[in-house]
Amino acid sequence: MSEQKYKGIIQKYRRFLPVSEETPVITLNEGNTPLIYAGYLSRLVGKNCEVYLKCEGLNPTGSFKDRGMTLAISKACEEKATAVMCASTGNTSASAAAYAAVAGIKCIVLIPSGAIALGKLSQALIHGAKVLAIKGNFDTALSMVKEITQAFPITLVNSLNPYRIQGQKTASFEICDYLGDAPDFQIMPVGNAGNITAYWKGYQEYQSQALSKKLPVMLGFQAQGSAPIVRNKPILNPETIATAIRIGNPASWKGATDARDESGGLIDMVSDTQILAAYKMLAEKEGVFAEPASAASIAGLLKLIKKGYFTPSTKHRKIRIVCILTGHGLKDPERAIKTIKPPKLMRADLKTIIKEIGY
Ligand SMILES: *Cc1c(COP(=O)(O)O)cnc(C)c1O
Repeated sequence: MSEQKYKGIIQKYRRFLPVSEETPVITLNEGNTPLIYAGYLSRLVGKNCEVYLKCEGLNPTGSFKDRGMTLAISKACEEKATAVMCASTGNTSASAAAYAAVAGIKCIVLIPSGAIALGKLSQALIHGAKVLAIKGNFDTALSMVKEITQAFPITLVNSLNPYRIQGQKTASFEICDYLGDAPDFQIMPVGNAGNITAYWKGYQEYQSQALSKKLPVMLGFQAQGSAPIVRNKPILNPETIATAIRIGNPASWKGATDARDESGGLIDMVSDTQILAAYKMLAEKEGVFAEPASAASIAGLLKLIKKGYFTPSTKHRKIRIVCILTGHGLKDPERAIKTIKPPKLMRADLKTIIKEIGY
């Protein structure tokens, strides 16, 4: 029998998802992203510790949003929807626009004006979405989208749409399948909090079906200027350079605190300075280019290492830590160029160049 070719998360994890034979599968072969061993970070944590990077930026539109979008758009098509709509800090709109294009349905996007990375905006536009930039932040955009989708026959595809969370939980399955069990710790950025809710759900389902033995401790990180869960109150004017997590009133607030409390984990915050240092380190030491919001995972890891959070294993067993890198660095090239010195302008002269490179 020939091996079945990979065709995306719905086909792979069908039995865990709310789909039937009647559900049309709208896919771009999302999922199946690499879990990369991070040598430099592992050595930083210490002996008997392994750090892995779940590189969700390698999904078709460059972020984990594709896992939820394949299911949300497939179900919308099953329900004969002709239009979908979302508010977005960028990646949701890029993903919704691409999957709506495949499905041949209309996609409408509300974004906070001037606050989304150029790569993401270009994706939504090139895939043919109707993109409207509002003079307001993400939270305002989301409440407007909620009202509009309640009043008109348009399907909401933000993570309030339960199919989004269902699709996103498949990342936990992949991690367990790869490692042979759940990791000891999982670290991830928290914005609207749908993803931490989804991962926790995925780990719980796998364990309840005896496909994994343990549950990870869930460690979420918000940006300091946008940390409603840490501060235990909504933030009216959230600020951070990590635009994907610039959210002041997360829709899945309770999902996040449940994941934290039930797993014995924590939700903490990191500053923009810490995020940018981690962003640079990740690229320089591990060869992985992730967007700033994703680097919040690494900034969180570094913060916890400093605090001595990870005590070395006494039971001759390795501690395994998975950091979720939610989106690709190329989404926001302007940030990379602002963070690093620009290239030095040189005369096209062989001698000067050889001298400059130190030979
Ligand atoms: C959407 C997004 C997040 C935040 O995920 P939530 O589910 O909103 O918590 C983090 N990083 C990136 C790159 C994203 O696109």
